[in-house]
Amino acid sequence: MQILATDLDRTLLPNGKWEADSGAIPLFNRLTRENDILLVYVTGRNLDLTERAIREYGVRFPDILCGDVGTTIRRYEQGHWHLDEGWSQHVHRTSPRWDAPALAAAVEGIDGLREQEPEHLNPFKQSYYVNHESKDQILREVDARVKGRFDEEIIYSFDSLDGKGLLDFLPHSATKQTALEYVASAFGSPREEVVFCGDSGNDIFPLTAGFCGVLVKNADEQLVDNVRAAMEADPRLQVYFAVGGFMGLNGNYASGVIEGCFHYGLFGDARSAAPDDGGMSQGV
Ligand SMILES: [Mg+2]
Repeated sequence: MQILATDLDRTLLPNGKWEADSGAIPLFNRLTRENDILLVYVTGRNLDLTERAIREYGVRFPDILCGDVGTTIRRYEQGHWHLDEGWSQHVHRTSPRWDAPALAAAVEGIDGLREQEPEHLNPFKQSYYVNHESKDQILREVDARVKGRFDEEIIYSFDSLDGKGLLDFLPHSATKQTALEYVASAFGSPREEVVFCGDSGNDIFPLTAGFCGVLVKNADEQLVDNVRAAMEADPRLQVYFAVGGFMGLNGNYASGVIEGCFHYGLFGDARSAAPDDGGMSQGV
């Protein structure tokens, strides 16, 4: 069973400022079903917002949802979601000092930091809006108060569409990367056989963790730079940068995901499907 994991917003979903191919999502749905792929969504969205995305954009239901930035894992079977309780237990065990209320108290009163709405928080996810203009100062203050005290991961990302800075505190054992590692291990797949597609911010972790990475063409420049730097430091990393021009698709969003899947052979042989494939890749 081959695993395809993908971020949703601006990776699979065309909700950015770049042009989208209208047929890409139906093609993605068909190819993942025909090739018997285990499909995993790895997203910052919670369950409600994931279901809304499925309705709104017509992407298929996944087999597994690593939601809330990897802090929850659900299987989707015969029309129902099943929460993976083993994941919560694993996180508690491996991040014993994690304490969301204590962490919230520690950052209280930092200027330019505002707690997100309750639907964006959960016991393993303490999230804030950040005034992006003063983010350096805010993040220094956050580090001084929090770093190393709560077995935490501090993840900053910037939503270039609405200009919002976003700060997530997660247990360091519950991120997009570790959730995907847990799923891969549950299905007995070595990480070199798992494809992960992303576009920004916190996708850096799974993209540099030894999975087969794919950056869609519309990926943030900052992420592209960070991934290239990681590849220079570790030549074993495999990441494919979608360029478009493949099967008449433009490489953005779902088109880039499809291009990356062909590159890694998930959907059959890319060369026979598209002789003009001009993608760049490095690694073994
Ligand atoms: Mg994204």
